[in-house]
Amino acid sequence: MQVFNNTRDLREFVSSAKMRGQRVGFVPTMGYLHDGHLSLVERARSRADLVVVSIFVNPTQFAPHEDLSSYPRDEEGDLQKLREAKVAAVFLPNVEVMYPEGSTTSVTVLGPSLPLEGERRPNHFKGVATVVTKLFNIVQPDVAVFGRKDYQQCMVIDAMVRDLNMPVELEFAPTRRESDGLAMSSRNAYLSTDERARAVALSRALRAALAAYQGGERSRENLVNILQSALQSAQPCEVDYAEVRDAETLESRAVFGNEPLVFLLAVRVGTTRLIDNMRTDDV
Ligand code: AMP
Repeated sequence: MQVFNNTRDLREFVSSAKMRGQRVGFVPTMGYLHDGHLSLVERARSRADLVVVSIFVNPTQFAPHEDLSSYPRDEEGDLQKLREAKVAAVFLPNVEVMYPEGSTTSVTVLGPSLPLEGERRPNHFKGVATVVTKLFNIVQPDVAVFGRKDYQQCMVIDAMVRDLNMPVELEFAPTRRESDGLAMSSRNAYLSTDERARAVALSRALRAALAAYQGGERSRENLVNILQSALQSAQPCEVDYAEVRDAETLESRAVFGNEPLVFLLAVRVGTTRLIDNMRTDDV
């Protein structure tokens, strides 16, 4: 496995692979890798001849009060996992490589960036869209894989690739969960034992709403109440949002029809902000 810290050497590696006729798969991450990340690597491998993974904790997607400085990191552990996963190359740039002095360009996606996370984290998706554009331009992958765990992020990247005619195929992979249902996340490392036990309420709430939907419930208010009351078992916690939306447009309606819906949660357990989601056609 080759590890690159700069753009030029990685580009050379990728372009010689392409000259040999190999398809390049790409998985961007912020590191502190878990089985969810590794499932994306497997997906990428099934669609490409070699896989490139990036590890970069992107400062532009964090607000000043967020957890950039405490974001968990384990470079050696990550590289070991990627070696075992037979990744061909890792791109591990520092902030100066990604944002040299004088950088003035960013990418703004409207539409799916605006509601929910966009309302609570105003510049978050601008940071994501900018760094993903840069990583796509550096790596030039044939296919890139993202996790549905970050549901809105998938929609934002899908819109960006379509709107800007980016020559990359996208694949969105299902959320990997712990055995009790908690969605895997690097941020789960912040949870105390007690918070970890309470955090299971998120996936339980999503399953409760899904069961009600399967039983015919289509009222937004009733579905939101089911989410909220199932989240009571995470108390003390702060529900940032518990929502049901059209899965394709993120539109809200008082009463939904039979179109696929998505339940979306953002909940602060202790000081850790957890997000999770489930689509009605996930099962
Ligand atoms: P992150 O390192 O948190 O930026 O995530 C990197 C990629 O892994 C993103 O596409 C995430 O959506 C994806 N990801 C994070 N957690 C999971 C999970 N539990 N299952 C599947 N994919 C995930």
